[in-house]
Amino acid sequence: TAPVLEVRDLSVEFRTPHGTVNAVNGVSFALDRGETLAILGESGSGKSVTAQAVMDLIDSPPGFVTGGEILFHGQDLLANRHLHHQVRGQSITMIFQDALSALNPVFTVGWQIGEQLRVHRGMSRRDARARVIELMELVKIPYAAARVDDYPHEFSGGMRQRVMIAMALALDPEVLIADEPTTALDVTVQAQVMALLEDLQRDLGMSLILITHDLGVVTDMAHRVSVMYAGRVVEEGDVYSVFKNPAHPYTEGLMSSMPKATHGDQKLVPITGAPPSLANIPSGCPFHPRCPYMRPDTCVNEHPPLREVVAGRRSACHFAEEVFS
Ligand code: SF4
Ligand code: MG
Repeated sequence: TAPVLEVRDLSVEFRTPHGTVNAVNGVSFALDRGETLAILGESGSGKSVTAQAVMDLIDSPPGFVTGGEILFHGQDLLANRHLHHQVRGQSITMIFQDALSALNPVFTVGWQIGEQLRVHRGMSRRDARARVIELMELVKIPYAAARVDDYPHEFSGGMRQRVMIAMALALDPEVLIADEPTTALDVTVQAQVMALLEDLQRDLGMSLILITHDLGVVTDMAHRVSVMYAGRVVEEGDVYSVFKNPAHPYTEGLMSSMPKATHGDQKLVPITGAPPSLANIPSGCPFHPRCPYMRPDTCVNEHPPLREVVAGRRSACHFAEEVFS
């Protein structure tokens, strides 16, 4: 079956007075119906910018989408502004890290959740309000009917994030993008919000893109994972096989450097060096300055394309077969 959303060869740059920042450099991934895809990467790997491009948020200088396609049910949103505008916020919605700044402090949460219903579904205030209470119950906000007229500051951080999720679900989206949705919350609340997202994804059968730097979140919740480095996808596949047997040295490094890795008894070994500046990405393979498998001529000079290593597994490493074996 055709994917719901497919991003092909997407590139985004930011033109600053100090030079061009190449934030996304040919990212490709596909999202199936009812699937949770994790986009895993360190900060500055381009994962949030990729999501922003999908949401049409890279729409003014200094940010430019410089290439690629964003296909929603096969239609390229980058070639059709009108369609892109219609789809984002309705069929594809997003929740952000910081619910407090995403909510308007002067309107009640009920009014804000209901806005989409009044604007896009033409619902009356009364019908919208009834549906809002259902949505608040769906995201497990206690005493929803009593809290619908409360203001954002009257909710805890975790409950505000639930309000955001209710807003994102109001129009029954096919795709929900969650960008580090729990980073601002304490650990117990994080787990509760993630469990809620997992339940909603399954019960509503929607497709979920989970943007995270947390390996534990990926193993708990995602079906497939795309690992990003320096604005590119370097490895992709189903979560179990990618983490069991990485096909890219960066993924392998992540596995041995992060405490939540599946081999819990192994010593933690950090990846040497630092992630590259996106204003000055290394030649050839962008991971070459840090890579234990690096071979001078090939890796320094030739850009490794993302290619299939075995069925369902892709890696952007010239020597993926050696890493994988
Ligand atoms: Fe390492 Fe070369 Fe593979 Fe890049 S292409 S990950 S430098 S072995
Ligand atoms: Mg980010």
